[in-house]
Amino acid sequence: MTLSDAAAHQDITTVEVPTHWYNLAAELDTPIPPHLHPGTKEPVQPEDLAPLFASGLIAQEASTEAYHEIPEPVREILSMWRPSPLIRARRFEDALGTTCRIYVKYEGVSPVGSHKTNSAVAQAYYNAVDGVKKLTTETGAGQWGSALSFAGAQFGIDVEVWQVRASYDSKPYRGHLMRTYGGTVHPSPSELTEAGRAMLAKDPGTTGSLGMAVSEAVEVAAQDPEARYALGSVLNHVVLHQSVIGLEAVEQLNLHEKGADVVFGCAGGGSNLAGLAFPFLREKIHGRQDPRIVAAEPVACPSITKGEYRYDHGDVAGLTPLLKMHTLGMDFVPDPIHAGGLRYHGMSPALSHTVELGLVEGVAIEQNDAFAAGVLFARSQGIVPAPESTHAIAAAADYAREHADEVLVIGLSGHGQLDLPAYAEYLSGNLA
Ligand SMILES: *Cc1c(COP(=O)(O)O)cnc(C)c1O
Repeated sequence: MTLSDAAAHQDITTVEVPTHWYNLAAELDTPIPPHLHPGTKEPVQPEDLAPLFASGLIAQEASTEAYHEIPEPVREILSMWRPSPLIRARRFEDALGTTCRIYVKYEGVSPVGSHKTNSAVAQAYYNAVDGVKKLTTETGAGQWGSALSFAGAQFGIDVEVWQVRASYDSKPYRGHLMRTYGGTVHPSPSELTEAGRAMLAKDPGTTGSLGMAVSEAVEVAAQDPEARYALGSVLNHVVLHQSVIGLEAVEQLNLHEKGADVVFGCAGGGSNLAGLAFPFLREKIHGRQDPRIVAAEPVACPSITKGEYRYDHGDVAGLTPLLKMHTLGMDFVPDPIHAGGLRYHGMSPALSHTVELGLVEGVAIEQNDAFAAGVLFARSQGIVPAPESTHAIAAAADYAREHADEVLVIGLSGHGQLDLPAYAEYLSGNLA
């Protein structure tokens, strides 16, 4: 029996783990605007980034190559859970009463339960090649911190994480997960850094933000010659690593359909959506399909639908390069909603660029509507989605109820089994 024969008889489709990452930017007529040096405001040079990032990642950040071979050690680790399943969500279709065919690309099968591991493993690898001993990073709900802690354990690198206080206090389990993998976790803002102390002096009761946590992690990496910094989203090299999601999904979907009509993903920093959507946009550019791409973001942090498209810092202290992106401003502190991974003031320059080109559209979702869709999905399909992912599900559900016979693909960026207190709050009617 061939793979496609087998696939036709089951709802879960698998293909090979990709051998190359895909870089959409190389195939666009207009390039992504370059990152600028925070001091000189000139395009940032590789040597400017060297204190913070591994050389292999700096090269990827400015790459104009469409394909990058995935190093074998990285591909081997990815093969522990990849290819991730593309699931036809028939019971969810029935629950919605739609004739649309809904496919879900499920990243919750990774060790830490989200797509973040795809880039964490690659980043740890390139740092190990450069002899780096320690990686510092920020995390919101803890998905990225746990992914990097896992990846650090694979390559013998220490991982130190600053977690947004709102999530550190309300979601202790991912902290336990990070420590289980050997990582160290601090609530942010902390007394451990100059940036953290300054933020606490200004507002001692702050719930923190990803922008603050980035400042702390960058400061520590910049001062330690054996340490580098890792970012879980936003940057071009992260988007590149996440392309495995879409490369698999395009192939998996081709076994059943003539392509997607609409692809939905949640967007915090933009990496899981870009990872899923950019290979579909490759198909569009080459005239093989014509999908719409929808970025679902929270009403509480609407960088695409309400933000400005301009240069801004990635962090609160202004230590990072200036990025051309949709931003709510580096000082923006969103309400402490449960989708911690969507509480970032900016958006990936690569995804922002495709929004400007009219290839991607944004939609803002209320937290209660997101959880309602998440609960409906859990009751019909069994998988409890991450609070972040429920935004994509809600956007797709709204669409499916109003359309017929279309092929929809939803990026299910992670599972929510460590976010059940948030579901409990929703179910008891206590959600703000
Ligand atoms: C981090 C995270 C997100 C948001 O980050 P993106 O870079 O926008 O993908 C979404 N879903 C989950 C499960 C996450 O952990």
